[in-house]
Amino acid sequence: MRIVSEDYIARRLQVKGIVQGVGFRPFVYQLAHKYGLKGEVANTSSGVTIHIEGSREQIECFEADLATRCPPLAQITAVNGCPESVRNYLDFTIASSRGEEAVSTLIAPDVSICGDCLRELFDPEDRRYHYPFINCTNCGPRYTIIDDIPYDRPQTSMKHFKMCAQCQAEYDDPADRRFHAQPNACALCGPRVSLYDKDRKKVAAHDPLAHAAALLKQGFILAIKGLGGFHLAADAGNSDAVSRLRSRKQREEKPLAMMSVDPARIRQYARVGPEEEKLLTSLQRPIVLLEKKKTNTIAAEVAPRNRYFGVMLPYTPLHYLLLECGFTALVMTSGNRSEEPIAIDNDDAFERLADIADYFLIHNRDIYLRSDDSIVRRTAGATRFIRRSRGYVPRPVFLRNPVPPILACGAELKNTVCLTQEDRAFLSQHIGDLENLATYEFFRLTIAHMERILAIAPEIVAYDWHPDYLSTKYAEEQDALEKIPVQHHHAHIVSCMAEHQIEGPVIGLALDGTGYGADGTVWGGEVLAVWPDRFERLAHFAHVPMPGSAAAIKEPWRMAVSYLNDAFGDQVWNLDLPLLEKIGERKLRIILEMIAKELNSPLTSSLGRLFDGVAAIVGIRQRVSFEGQAAMELEMLADEAGVAVYDYEWVADPAYQILTAPIVAGVVRDIQKGIPTSTISCKFHTTLVRLFAELCELLRRKHRLNRVVLSGGVFQNSLLLSGLIQALKAKNFEVFAHQQVPCNDGGIALGQALVAAARVRT
Ligand code: ZN
Ligand code: ZN
Ligand code: FE
Repeated sequence: MRIVSEDYIARRLQVKGIVQGVGFRPFVYQLAHKYGLKGEVANTSSGVTIHIEGSREQIECFEADLATRCPPLAQITAVNGCPESVRNYLDFTIASSRGEEAVSTLIAPDVSICGDCLRELFDPEDRRYHYPFINCTNCGPRYTIIDDIPYDRPQTSMKHFKMCAQCQAEYDDPADRRFHAQPNACALCGPRVSLYDKDRKKVAAHDPLAHAAALLKQGFILAIKGLGGFHLAADAGNSDAVSRLRSRKQREEKPLAMMSVDPARIRQYARVGPEEEKLLTSLQRPIVLLEKKKTNTIAAEVAPRNRYFGVMLPYTPLHYLLLECGFTALVMTSGNRSEEPIAIDNDDAFERLADIADYFLIHNRDIYLRSDDSIVRRTAGATRFIRRSRGYVPRPVFLRNPVPPILACGAELKNTVCLTQEDRAFLSQHIGDLENLATYEFFRLTIAHMERILAIAPEIVAYDWHPDYLSTKYAEEQDALEKIPVQHHHAHIVSCMAEHQIEGPVIGLALDGTGYGADGTVWGGEVLAVWPDRFERLAHFAHVPMPGSAAAIKEPWRMAVSYLNDAFGDQVWNLDLPLLEKIGERKLRIILEMIAKELNSPLTSSLGRLFDGVAAIVGIRQRVSFEGQAAMELEMLADEAGVAVYDYEWVADPAYQILTAPIVAGVVRDIQKGIPTSTISCKFHTTLVRLFAELCELLRRKHRLNRVVLSGGVFQNSLLLSGLIQALKAKNFEVFAHQQVPCNDGGIALGQALVAAARVRT
C-alpha cells in the first residue's frame, strides 16, 4: 500500500541534550503510537534522530508533546526539524543501536526512586514487593554505576547480574516502563542486602532491613551502603546514639544531615515552605537546609549552635524500607572518618568504619564512583548550592559559547574538577579537601573517570595560582597539556558569570576565606573589575597579619589580636575586653611580637578572617573545628531586623583599601557598653551590606559598570547574600549570584575553565 497525499508528510527531527539512557526512545515510541504516526527513532552520536511520517496535523501535535512531555530525566537542549521524503514505513519502531552511537552523549545523574516504583515497592501483590533495588527507565542509579560508555548494562556494575526471564522480557519490550532500564532487576536475579556485625560476621536475619531498623531503634550506629557511598546512620531522636556517632567519627561540631520519610514528618521539627518542599521532593533529593522549630524531639547534638537542620527525603527503595519502620528522622551522615572520602566498597567500609559503626547493612551492587549527597538552601528567592553532587552531576552547565576541551583542577578545599566540551561544562561531584592522599587519589580517579565516560580529551589544563595546592601540582605534571594558571578570585567571579552566560566587564565582589593573591599575600575581600580573560583589583580590605599563618585559621583568637592591634596599637594592653583576659598576658605578648617582627605572619585582606576575628572578639569561640565555623555561628546569632551600622571608611591607594579598624573599634565599644552579641552581629552584617553597596556606587560612577557579580564562600552567609542583593537592586544595579554551582570553592573549577578558554581565544 502506497500512501500519496498532500497531507501525508515526513519529517526528520534531531534531538540534542540528555536523551539517552533516560527512557527517551520508548517515550517517542509511545508518542508516535498515540498519534498514529509511522517511522523510527534511533540513538546517534549526537543525541536522538527521529524519522516521522503521517498527517501534518498529527506531526505538529507530536512535536509539541515531544518538547513538553518528555521523561523526567531527559533534558532537551535543541530540536532541529527538517522536511524529509516519505518512505512509507508500515509501523513505528526503535532502531537497534549502532556501534558508534553515544560517543558524545550526556550521561544522566543518579535519581531518586519514582512514584511508580514506590507504589510497586509497597504493593504486596507486586513481584517486587519490598525489593530494595527496584528501579525503572525513569529512576535509579546511573552515574555511580557506569564504568564506560555507551551506557549499556555490560558497562555498569549490573553486569554481574543476569536478568531472569521476566526481567529480560520487560527490558526488551518498548511498551514496558523498564525498556532498556540498565539496572533492571528483581529479588530472583538482582542484588541483595545483608547485615554484618563489625567483626564481619553475618547476622542471621530473615529480613536484614527490618533487623537493621530494630538495631537503630536500640541506639546502635549502622554503616549503610547507599547509592553513591556509605552513610553512617543513627536514630536522630536518641541523644546518646548521636553523641557516640559524633565522638567516634571525630566530627565534634559540624551539623549532621538527617533523613525523614515525608515532608509531614519533617514538619514535626523544621519549617518547610513551599519552595523547600519542592526541593525536598525533587528527583535530585538534595539535603535541604530548613529552619529548626523551637521545640522538637531531635537530639540537640545533631546540629548544635545552628538555626538550621539539613534534611533529605529517602532516595532509594532501601532508604524507604528502613524509614517505614517508624523513625521521625535518622541521622544519615557521610560514611567516612573525618576529612576522608566516603567509603563505597564493602571491604573498604569494614576496614575504615569498624571503629565507628556497630553493624553494616551492605549489598552486592558495586558503586564505581562515589557521590556525596548534595546540599542546597533557599536564599533571596533562589536555590543556592552549598554542595553540588549526587542527583545533579554530571548534568552540564550550558555555556554561552563553545570552548575547547579543558580540564580545570579546582582549588584545595571542597574540591571539584571541571571538564568542558563545546558549549557544556561538566562540574564533577564533590571530591573534598585535597589535604590527604586518599582524597587526592579520589581526585585523580574522578578526572580519569569523567574523561572516559564523557569522551573528553582535554588539551588545556587550568588551575589555581597557589603553588602548594595538590591540584596545582597535579596540573603541573600534565606535560601534554597547555597550562593556564588562574587567580582564585578571578575564577570565583567568572564561574558566576559563566552560569549566567554574561561577559565582562562587571564589578565582582569575591568574598571568601583564602585565595592566593597577585602580590603573594592572602586575598579574600576583593572588589574586582572582571573580564573573562583578565581582572583589575579595584578595592579590597586593608591587609592585616595572620599570626601563625594556618594556625590563625584554626584559632580565630589570633586574628582577633591582629585586628585589635591594627585598630588600637599599643592601647591593646589597656583594653577592657573579656577575650584578652581569656588569652592571658603571655600568649598576647607572643602574638603581638610575631606581628611586630613579621614572624610567620602573612598578610591577608580576607573577609572570612574578619568574620572569624569579630566572632572571637565578641566571645563566640576562640578555636574552630572546621573552616568558616566561627563566621557561621556569628551569622546564626544575629537578630534580624537592625539598621544600625558601625563606622566604615576606605582610602585610595591606588585601589581602595577598606579599613577594618573603625569596624573593629565599634564592635569593642559595643561590647564594653554591654550590648548583646545578637545586636552586635546584626550591626556587623548591616555594616558590610551598606559598605559594599556604597562602594559599588562609587565604582559605578568611576568605571561605568552597572553589573555586580557575587561569589566566594562568604556568600554562604544568607544574611549577607540576601542583604546585599536587596541593597544593590535598590540602587538599580543588575545583580548576579550563584544558582547552578556553589559560591564556595566547590564552584571555582567552572570559572578556571572559562578563564582558560578566554585566554586561548585572545
Ligand atoms: Zn522507577
Ligand atoms: Zn529478575
Ligand atoms: Fe575561595
